[in-house]
Amino acid sequence: MVNMVKVDKNLCIGCGTCVSVCPEVFELDKDGKSKLKEKADLQKNEACIKDSIDQCPVDAISK
Ligand code: SF4
Repeated sequence: MVNMVKVDKNLCIGCGTCVSVCPEVFELDKDGKSKLKEKADLQKNEACIKDSIDQCPVDAISK
């Protein structure tokens, strides 16, 4: 179960990988860094959240 996902904006370099891998959960904010979409369904997107965590080059995503 995934109840919470966080993006550390201090680490994020805005590469966009998580947005490509899991577009229902992540989007690029106005500052060009990733943020969680407000109504993201974390349960439904659990697999691609995991992929995003694995593929983020700076390990900015945690849960
Ligand atoms: S994959 Fe990581 S570094 Fe790239 S936009 Fe997402 S959180 Fe930021």
